[in-house]
Parts: sequence; structure tokens; C-alpha cells
Amino acid sequence: MEPVASQASREALRSPERFDAEEIAAKLEPMDASGVISWGFEEFGEDLYFACSFQKTSSIILHLATEINPNARFFYLDTDVLFPETYATRDRLAERFGVEFERYDSIPLDEQARLYGDKLWKSDPDACCAIRKVEPMKRALSEVECWVSGIRRQDSQTRAGAPKFSWDARFGLWKLNPLADWTERDVWTHLNSHGIPYNPLHDQGYPSIGCTHCTVPVHPGQSARDGRWFGLGKVECGIN
Ligand code: SF4
Repeated sequence: MEPVASQASREALRSPERFDAEEIAAKLEPMDASGVISWGFEEFGEDLYFACSFQKTSSIILHLATEINPNARFFYLDTDVLFPETYATRDRLAERFGVEFERYDSIPLDEQARLYGDKLWKSDPDACCAIRKVEPMKRALSEVECWVSGIRRQDSQTRAGAPKFSWDARFGLWKLNPLADWTERDVWTHLNSHGIPYNPLHDQGYPSIGCTHCTVPVHPGQSARDGRWFGLGKVECGIN
């Protein structure tokens, strides 16, 4: 068991009192993504944990983080219903950047069906996300002080006000969004100019990629996240 003093210091480091979030966010706002990630390493060291969805912004975060710190730590949530292209992108990125992704999964799908009914993603997608994403995410973040997300303000209205640094009350730790101010053009310029592997579904009409059951391609004129939980009135999985 962890010593009491160590537990207490961990709690202090994960406390919302540790930083003035607004002040830090204002300081980070003019910095580029590498500057924000460097600041994160200086403050949190090994306790900075990078989330990967294996979408285009994950490819960029991997590139920037490993350039700054080859020992950067990455994790992903394996819902067991990711696209084959997503798993293949994971493997290509692991090879290109020499990283090992820490995997967090959930209960087996057949157990979920037995406990909560078949096709929970249709009957109650919030419950399905809670089981297959939020609970593994809690486990992933339970031992670190700050996590890093690839969300951008341009992704959706719900993300339009995302700061580069904030207290994440849902999971009880700090959160960095180094790409918050990146445009779609910034993303593709970076990927193409550095020849970085990315999820091929982006070239097949999927601007945003989640689980196979809940992601469809979008049509011209639709917004980037319109292909997620299409027709269900749901816009986020409960993580960001
Ligand atoms: S995105 Fe769909 S399949 Fe994936 S966890 Fe959420 S509801 Fe379930």
C-alpha cells in the first residue's frame, strides 16, 4: 500500500488549488503547441499522460511530444469496437515514433450484452460510453496529475471555448489542450509537411472517428462531428 505521506502529497498535486488555472491558461494561450507541451513536462514530468484516439490530432501530439521527450507516456481506450483502420494506425504510429501505448479496456462485449442488453450503443449510448470509455478513462487517469487531449476549438460548438489548460473536475486532475487553437488547415499542413502517418478514414469522409457502431462518414456541408452518434442527439462521449 502507498505510504500515507505519499498519498497526501499525491492529493495535493491533484488539487485544484495547486494552480490558478485561468492565469496559466492565459500564459499558455500565445504559445505554440510544443511550448505548451514543454511547459507540461516541466510542471508534471512523468505525470503528464497523453490520450490517443488515433485520429489526426493524435498523430500530431505524438510527433510533438516525442520530439520534446522520447519517454513521453501515451494511453488509449480500447472499446473493442474501434475500426480496423484505427488499430492499424496505432501500430504504424507505434513503429514510427517508437512508443508503446498503454491500453485500457472494459468488460467483454458479451458480458455487457448479458448485463445490460444487446446493442447498448443503440438503446442507451450514454450508458455504453460510461462503461466502455468513461470507466477505463478514470482508471487511466487515477495515478497521474495531468492529461493531454487533442481537442480543438474548431471541432464543435461544445469545444469552442476550450482553454489550453484547465482543472478537469470530472476526473479530478489537470488537463492540457495544446492544439486548442489549431485550425483544420494547421492540422493537415503539419501532417503533410512532416509525412506523419494518420488514420486513413480521414480520407474517406470521416473527419471524426470513434467506435464502428457510432461513427458514419459526413457529407459536404455537415460539421466535423456530425458523423458521431448520428441521429441520437449525442455529441460527446463523456471524456472531453
Ligand atoms: S461510441 Fe458507441 S460503441 Fe463506443 S462506447 Fe460510446 S456508445 Fe458504445
